[in-house]
Amino acid sequence: MSVTASSSPSPFVTGVQPITETDAQIRGALAEAEIPPLLPALAYLTGDLALLRAELRPDPMMITLPQGGLTDDQQASAREIALAALIAYRDGGCRAAPPPSADDLLQILEFAVGGAGMGAYLPLLEEELAYRGEDRRGPGWCTAELAPDVGFSVVVIGAGMSGILAAHRLDQAGVDYIVLDKNLDVGGTWHESVYPGCRVDNPNHNYSYSFAQKHDWPFHYSTQDVLQEYFRECADSFDVRKNVRFGASVRSATWDETDATWTVVYATGDGVEHTVRANAVISAVGQLNRASWPTIDGIERFAGAYFHSAQWRHDLDLTGLRVAVIGTGCSALQFIPHVAEVAADVLVLQRTPPWIAPTPDYHDAVSPGLMWLYGHVPTYSELNRFSIFWKMGDAVLDGVRVDPAWQSDGSSVSAVSDFTRQMIVDYYTQQFGDRPDLLAKVVPDYPVGAKRIVRDNGIWATTLKRANVQLITDAIDHIDEDGIAMADGTHLDADVIIYGTGYQASNFLAPMQIIGRGGADLHERWGGDARAYLGVTIPEFPNLFCLYGPNTNIVVNGSIIYFSECGVRLVMGLLKSLVAGDHRSVEVKRDVHDAFNELVDAENRRMAWGWSSVNSWYKNSHGRVAQNWPFRLLDYWERTREPDLDDYEFVG
Ligand SMILES: Cc1cc2nc3c(=O)[nH]c(=O)nc-3n(C[C@H](O)[C@H](O)[C@H](O)COP(=O)(O)OP(=O)(O)OC[C@H]3O[C@@H](n4cnc5c(N)ncnc54)[C@H](O)[C@@H]3O)c2cc1C
Repeated sequence: MSVTASSSPSPFVTGVQPITETDAQIRGALAEAEIPPLLPALAYLTGDLALLRAELRPDPMMITLPQGGLTDDQQASAREIALAALIAYRDGGCRAAPPPSADDLLQILEFAVGGAGMGAYLPLLEEELAYRGEDRRGPGWCTAELAPDVGFSVVVIGAGMSGILAAHRLDQAGVDYIVLDKNLDVGGTWHESVYPGCRVDNPNHNYSYSFAQKHDWPFHYSTQDVLQEYFRECADSFDVRKNVRFGASVRSATWDETDATWTVVYATGDGVEHTVRANAVISAVGQLNRASWPTIDGIERFAGAYFHSAQWRHDLDLTGLRVAVIGTGCSALQFIPHVAEVAADVLVLQRTPPWIAPTPDYHDAVSPGLMWLYGHVPTYSELNRFSIFWKMGDAVLDGVRVDPAWQSDGSSVSAVSDFTRQMIVDYYTQQFGDRPDLLAKVVPDYPVGAKRIVRDNGIWATTLKRANVQLITDAIDHIDEDGIAMADGTHLDADVIIYGTGYQASNFLAPMQIIGRGGADLHERWGGDARAYLGVTIPEFPNLFCLYGPNTNIVVNGSIIYFSECGVRLVMGLLKSLVAGDHRSVEVKRDVHDAFNELVDAENRRMAWGWSSVNSWYKNSHGRVAQNWPFRLLDYWERTREPDLDDYEFVG
């Protein structure tokens, strides 16, 4: 088992290449630059903060627009300044200035997003930036130094993004562990979601581990195969595969009080049950890998082929067939354009239209010039990561918070929310202006952010306007042998029905049986309403830790990887006390857990997704928002950075 210091270099970003290109080549690359992080990167590189010209500072209200809303003239000026700085850097032997002071760094970061007063974020941002492959979120301790003779072991359930991360951290700390995954490879979501068009909707320069960043993502929003390859690369280079048992589906985990261990029972593909005991269990089973089927009568009566998008039937050729698609959520908007390319007819059945975030580069490859800049301008890629982290995270949170004084017809929650709504309605109008019949159906009547926002580069309008596509908003009554019987008495014949109806997101840790202290059954305790403290720990379930657990999902498009990195850090902090041999078990105090959940619930009710009555997978069957973190990303970081030991009961 390898034991490495927490600041071990990443195999992914290990610096940049020296610039040897001509002035003209540099100018050519700059033509394709992402402007907002460009001058900040050069200020960092040269130490010359005068490069941060006030007139070229982005407007924070416009930062989410392409090029941060900078005008063409502003962009041209920034390119000229950058050209001169890069030529000087090249001619000076590509020597970077010493890293900036904390004050200068703050100025650099604030300029990149046009923000101010971001001082509280600085330590978090330095971790996120993780210049040149640093790893600032490692455990910072290892068993060999802490308690070499204490045998302590962990079972991690799941080898997706969170499980690979947990395994890596356990490896770094020298803790014995195994990972169990029902699948035959690592990657979780990105191994399983193989429907056509599947891609991430948070740009990859942000959707990647902070300590395993890449300069050379082929797309801004990479496709499933690229992400799967990334997580495979991570598992290989962190050397965690050696401890993964694939094809191992966990059925139960039971806490044994006498020796303070968990007994985990899992089944292999041959149906044989195996048992493994460990001092702690980390659940990394995700929220979005069990398909959710709608409750429509007669699904199984349909005589043609039918399947869920999470279990795509690649063996089924849809060419020339009449295909009905139920659902218009994120997955459906990704796969319907591909189905429409080959099917004879596509009937799109929509219950609630999604809000769309206009994203012109959604399907675009990263251009060669921009890729070159990421690979040759030190810190440019990292500052671009920061810019995305900010503008798709805390910068937009206020836009989905309810203003109690706002007079609303239900379609917005504040003046900012109404402004955003108007901007997107303008986009819809521009896209569907020639088809008023469609326009009337695609504009939502609920506030932006009440459901997951979907990205679009215009392909949705192109698809819905195709002669072979119909958008149907009438209610479904039932399914029969031939297709879909509608509530108004009409019938839609279909050869194939595809269910794009999402995942059982509220069914946390299902279908495993988890028995904790005193025989407490986790799912009985939850009663369909999962809760945890900081998404990680649950009273009565000692030494059980969840990643991507209850209330650690985000709505306005941050990255779940960030949450898992913070969550794992908290887990490693708690494990440290156990590994050190001070205690046998740790469990969150009931009152701390309950008070935290009350805070979360109160804040979620003040957010668009909790306030609106629109149906969404963010709410469980009790109507409670069990998915989302309603606070700032900074708040999660602060609360998970180190465990507050007073929050927990330590035993033994
Ligand atoms: C189509 C799609 C698009 C997405 N886009 C984004 C995005 O743009 N940005 C973003 O931040 N997030 C996105 N997500 C969320 C995504 O799930 C997370 O970002 C991330 O992949 C979660 O990783 P995870 O390891 O926590 O869970 P998962 O990736 O779901 O992995 C869980 C693993 O646990 C295993 N497992 C589950 N139950 C058991 C069991 N009982 N026994 C053994 N193994 C088990 C599974 O086989 C799986 O390998 C998307 C999800 C989907 C489905």
